[in-house]
Amino acid sequence: PLTVDDMIEDRLITVCVRKRPLNKNELIKKEVDVITVPSKNQLIVHEPKTKVDLTKYLENHLFKFDYTFNETCNNEIVYKYTAQPLIKTIFEGGFATCFAYGQTGSGKTYTMSGDLFRNSPNKGIYAMAATDIFRLVASARYKHLNLIVTCSFFEIYSRKVLDLLNRKGDLKILEDGKQQVQVVGLTEKVVSSVNEVLELIHQGNTARTSGQTSANENSSRSHAVFQIYLRPAKKFHTLHGKFSLIDLAGNERGADTLSSTKVTRMEGGEINKSLLALKECIRALGRKGAHLPFRLSKLTQVLRDSFIGSNSKTCMIAMVSPGVSSCENTLNTLRYADRVK
Ligand code: ADP
Ligand code: MG
Repeated sequence: PLTVDDMIEDRLITVCVRKRPLNKNELIKKEVDVITVPSKNQLIVHEPKTKVDLTKYLENHLFKFDYTFNETCNNEIVYKYTAQPLIKTIFEGGFATCFAYGQTGSGKTYTMSGDLFRNSPNKGIYAMAATDIFRLVASARYKHLNLIVTCSFFEIYSRKVLDLLNRKGDLKILEDGKQQVQVVGLTEKVVSSVNEVLELIHQGNTARTSGQTSANENSSRSHAVFQIYLRPAKKFHTLHGKFSLIDLAGNERGADTLSSTKVTRMEGGEINKSLLALKECIRALGRKGAHLPFRLSKLTQVLRDSFIGSNSKTCMIAMVSPGVSSCENTLNTLRYADRVK
């Protein structure tokens, strides 16, 4: 597996996969682990030919990515190879974006939010990115820029933009013609410590999962967008750089979800549409003249500035569940990630 000493390469688009361990429930049910990670950039799905005999007639699907993280890799290692290399970009006046993609239960929120209590050793990418950003703002290298750090946190649910920091719904997106995107009325809080950031994430995550019939259902159907902005203290209304960290909606097909009422099928269609648009927008990064279908979904619309900026970098972490019962979703996730490269 990857260790902290491995080389990090500088890329415009980085695509990685993270495999989580089998959980207690899966172990009790004697669920078979069908994923192996033979090297630092390869991953194999051992698909059983029949659902009856899981040990024989395997079909092996080999995938290659920039990095592959096995079940022993912790959040710190994942951060080091995914979001951390993008931090420089926002100090240089650019846009950085990091996505967690995968089916519900595969570890997206575990990776992005992690534990939110103050001294947890298992911080998520949001908190680790904030830590590095505060450190760099005060560093000898960037102190002269005199930057202020601010955060916003919203979710996109059925084409609606909902502010997670003040529970306001259906915010409008404004494009000012100067490549900047603005979510009108979105709360943007000035932050000066990691604990303040943890507090905001906690507040947002609570808003994200409350007030719905089933907490898990709602959060798996919305994209959560956490953004960290760098603004010059003397020209606070201008933007120096922006880091968008996104916990995407579960990518499982409608058929997999528990209920299949009209409403949930509509949501599924909307999620699908936004994930397809996202794939095209990421692929277009760095390709001159490529078509950007950002208007196809709210998600790509709010990230427009991050896709068209001249200094934009993106990273996608595709999360996979190890169990045989997730095999089909896992293959779908890996094929999607493969197309983003
Ligand atoms: P998602 O957000 O993709 O729906 P979660 O992040 O909520 O999935 O993860 C589902 C469950 O698996 C949670 O209980 C979480 O703590 C656990 N989990 C996810 N990834 C890991 C990991 N790498 N190591 C240990 N437990 C994990
Ligand atoms: Mg989640």
